[in-house]
Amino acid sequence: MVNNCANPKCAKPLHYLREGRVFAFEIAEPAPVEEKRTRRLEHFWLCGPCSQVMMLTQSADGIRLVPRPALRFTNGPIKTAIAS
Ligand SMILES: [Zn+2]
Repeated sequence: MVNNCANPKCAKPLHYLREGRVFAFEIAEPAPVEEKRTRRLEHFWLCGPCSQVMMLTQSADGIRLVPRPALRFTNGPIKTAIAS
C-alpha cells in the first residue's frame, strides 16, 4: 500500500487519494522457481504539488521520478519567429 508521496524529497503522507496522482506499474518478481515467476502490480502516489511538475516512468532500472513535460510544449508545434 502507498503511504507517502513517491518523491523522496517530499514524502508527504497520503491522506486523500483524490489529491495528486496514482501510478500503477507491473513489476516482474524475481522468483527462485521459473514457473512461479509472477508479475505484481505496484502502486505509487505523487501528491498534488509533486504531480503538477513530476511524473513516474518505468525503465529497466526500475521506477524513476522524472520532470513532467510542460503543458505548453504539448499544445502543438512551437512557432519560431523568423526575421525576414
Ligand atoms: Zn509530494
